[in-house]
Amino acid sequence: MFEHIQAAPADPILGLNDAYKKDPNPNKINLGVGVYKDELGHTPILKAVKQAEERLLLQEKSKNYLSIEGRPNYRSAVQTLLFGKDHQIISKQLAQTAHTPGGTGALRVAAEFIKKHLPEATIWVSNPTWANHQSVFQSVGLEVGSYSYYNADSKTLDFEAMLASLSQVPEGDVVLFHGCCHNPTGIDPTPEQWYQLAKLCSKQGFLALFDFAYQGFGQSLNDDAQGLRTFLDHVPEMLIASSFSKNFGLYNERVGALTIVCETSDQAESAFTQIKRCIRTNYSNPPSHGSAVVAEILNDAELYALWESELDTMRTRIHEMRSLFVNTLRAKGVNQDFSFISQQQGMFSFSGLTPDQVAQLRNEFGIYIVGSGRINVAGMTHDNMAPLCEAIASVIKG
Ligand code: PMP
Repeated sequence: MFEHIQAAPADPILGLNDAYKKDPNPNKINLGVGVYKDELGHTPILKAVKQAEERLLLQEKSKNYLSIEGRPNYRSAVQTLLFGKDHQIISKQLAQTAHTPGGTGALRVAAEFIKKHLPEATIWVSNPTWANHQSVFQSVGLEVGSYSYYNADSKTLDFEAMLASLSQVPEGDVVLFHGCCHNPTGIDPTPEQWYQLAKLCSKQGFLALFDFAYQGFGQSLNDDAQGLRTFLDHVPEMLIASSFSKNFGLYNERVGALTIVCETSDQAESAFTQIKRCIRTNYSNPPSHGSAVVAEILNDAELYALWESELDTMRTRIHEMRSLFVNTLRAKGVNQDFSFISQQQGMFSFSGLTPDQVAQLRNEFGIYIVGSGRINVAGMTHDNMAPLCEAIASVIKG
C-alpha cells in the first residue's frame, strides 16, 4: 500500500535545523530557524512564564477539554493586545477570537475558512514571504499569488511596485500582510505606507489577513500593531493570525489565535460558528497549557510588567546584535555595504549572501543560514560574532 510513496523534500527551515544538530563541529553557529537566543546562545523560558506556570500548577484542578474556541480570559486578552483596550471593536464586540495551536494553526484554520466561504478567492502573499505560507494555503486548495515587496538591489521595500501589484488584486480576494517584522526581509511599511495600503484595501475591496507573529519584537507592543489598527480605521473586516511562540518564548506549547473582525457583532458571531466548525473537524479543541500561561500573564498587572520588560530585553539585544554585526563585518575588512541590516527589525534579515556563499559557510565553517540568505540575527552573540564575521569576510572575498 505504501510502497509507491516518495519521500517529501526536507522542510527548507526545519530541515536545516536537523542538519545543524547532526554537525559535530564544536564552533557551529545556527542562524537558520527563527528562534530567539540569549547572549549565552540559549532559548530561555521567560521569568514571567515560569511564575505563571508555578501559579497554574497550584490552581489547576482538571484536565477536562477546553471549548472549541479556547478559554475566555485568553480570547479577550488577545483582543486587547491586538486592538488596544479602548478600541470600539472590543466595546461593540465586532471581533471573535479562537485559540489555535500556534500561528501556523491560525493560518491553517483561516485557510480552510477562506476556501470554504470565499471559494473563488485567490490569496496573495508578499514576494518573498515565510516559506510555509504558500504550502499552508495550497494544502487546502487555495490559489496563491504573489505581490511585489522587496527590491534586492537597494535592499529596501519596493513600495511603488507593491502598490502597483496590489492595485491589480480584485475585490473579494485575500491579501496576506506581515503585521510587523516581515519574515524574511526584516523590512516593514512605514506608518504612512500602512495608511496608503489601508486606503488601497478599502478601494479595491480585498480582505486583509494579518499574520502577526512578532508583536513586540519591532518597536513595542503598541507600535507593532499600528499597521493592522490603521487598516481597521478604513476597512470593516479582517482576519488576524497571532502567534505567541516568539514574544512569550512558548514555541513548543503551540499557542496562537485566529481573530475575525466583521462589520457587525451579529456577523462576527455567525462567521465565528463556521470558524469553530473548521476547528472541530481538524483538532477539535486547543491544547490548554500555553493559553493558560498567556492568559495568566496578560490578565495580571505584575506578570504583564515583567513580561513586557523581558520582551524589551529580547528586542534590545537583537537591535544591538544588528549594529555589532554591521560594525564587525566592516572591522573584518568587508567592503560590501551591510548597513541596511541595522535598519531592519525583528529577528530576520535578508543578508544578500548568495546560495553559493551560504553553502560555503555551512560546509567550511559550520554556519547555518537559510538558502535564500535569510539570517536569524537573534542567533548572534558577542562570542560568536567575530568568527561569524571572519567566515563571511572569507566567503565574500573568496
Ligand atoms: N508566521 C510567520 C511570519 C512566522 O515567522 C512564523 C514562525 N516562524 C509563523 C507564522 C508560525 O508561528 P508558530 O510557530 O506559532 O506556528
